[in-house]
Amino acid sequence: MNKNDSDLIYQLLINENYLPALNPLEADVILINTCSVREHAEKRALGYISAFRQWHKSDGRILGIVGCMARRLGNSIFVKFPFVDLVLGPDSYLNIPDYLKLLEQERTKILDIEVGERCYKDIGRKSKRVAEFVSITRGCNNFCSYCVVPYVRGRLRSRPADDIISEVKNLTQCGVKDITLLGQNVNEYYYDGIDFPELLRKVAQETGIFRLRFLTSHPKDFSARIIEVIKENQNVCEWFHLPLQSGNNRILKLMNRKYTGEDYRNLIEKIRKNIPEATITTDIIVGFPTETESEFRDTLHLVEEIEFDDAYMYRYSPRPNVLASMYPALPEECIIERLKILIELQNKIIKKKTLKMVGKKYEVLFEERAKNGTRGKTRGNKDVVVEKILNPGSVSWIRIIRVKGRTPLGEIVEDDKSG
Ligand code: SAH
Ligand code: SF4
Repeated sequence: MNKNDSDLIYQLLINENYLPALNPLEADVILINTCSVREHAEKRALGYISAFRQWHKSDGRILGIVGCMARRLGNSIFVKFPFVDLVLGPDSYLNIPDYLKLLEQERTKILDIEVGERCYKDIGRKSKRVAEFVSITRGCNNFCSYCVVPYVRGRLRSRPADDIISEVKNLTQCGVKDITLLGQNVNEYYYDGIDFPELLRKVAQETGIFRLRFLTSHPKDFSARIIEVIKENQNVCEWFHLPLQSGNNRILKLMNRKYTGEDYRNLIEKIRKNIPEATITTDIIVGFPTETESEFRDTLHLVEEIEFDDAYMYRYSPRPNVLASMYPALPEECIIERLKILIELQNKIIKKKTLKMVGKKYEVLFEERAKNGTRGKTRGNKDVVVEKILNPGSVSWIRIIRVKGRTPLGEIVEDDKSG
């Protein structure tokens, strides 16, 4: 989401005739886009801001801090870092060109961390990449008890379908072949009578995009109609990112996730029954306050049973003012140990699943040069490498011949002209 926001800011500046600097230290303007989801991300951002103190000393240079941490910390950023000129929350990006003009005219401080009604709008984004993201909602209404997102990004707002379709068309015309529709929970998209399955169908059918994906699906809202849209539209890929968070029902309840381990298991069964080639990825948090050893093992059991194709695994990070921060935290060593165990298990599963790819054929869309060839993606969002120089954006059928580390290596069996 932040990467996509940075792209949006980049395009806004390009539209105003700014040019990208080759090296940050040569820039006249630096905007640091920050994330608040975990403490670690904030610490890194704070360190990064300090690193530009010296750079800012030259005349006329502008340093802005934008994003979730900017909204969370607001004015206190100016107190801690007096050299910062601009602090903007995630709903204020469309004002950036005006604020920069103002700062170029006079040295002042600008703070804008209001939650805005205005959603993303089509700003004529251009791209030279093969794969891109397009945001369809902002904010989140779910208030999972560990999560800071609803506080720093505000409530859910959906973007008009026409706006989304025009951005996807624009990007398709630039040569983008793979687009991921983005939202904290895409299943809650709703604008003017159009819900998410309908939006997915419209984008798939009205834009000419070669591959279409979506991220993230909250398991509590996943609609069976999405499965129908995938089956009926060849360009919608069979990749499902469904954050599990925990495999234990008491913890899921404390997390305010509104589904049980059984609900989750049934959902995966339904998806796999309808779409046997589906890839399923997830997010998991270990060491949620009060999680016992046996509750952690429930997560391990579910992970073992489901065999995710990939997983983002995090140790619980206390965030100020969220409900879970009121619960007693577990000792850090215990959380670190649990994360290690989970990662080991998931790595084993990935290894086993990747080895199973050997000998099979996949349609691959190539994205960029890799160390010894070209890297591309399967429809299931799995990275593969072919030891051959191929054009980004080209599509070929490949057969996996072996696995190197975690990466499946393939050879071309048939050039496909569909790209
Ligand atoms: N809206 C998405 C993702 C939000 S943030 C969703 O609901 O899945 C991405 C991931 O960060 C979450 O899925 C969760 O696993 C993790 N996360 C969020 N808050 C966290 C916290 N306080 N500590 C550790 N991980 C967290
Ligand atoms: Fe955070 Fe939950 Fe919303 Fe995801 S659904 S952004 S985890 S509150």
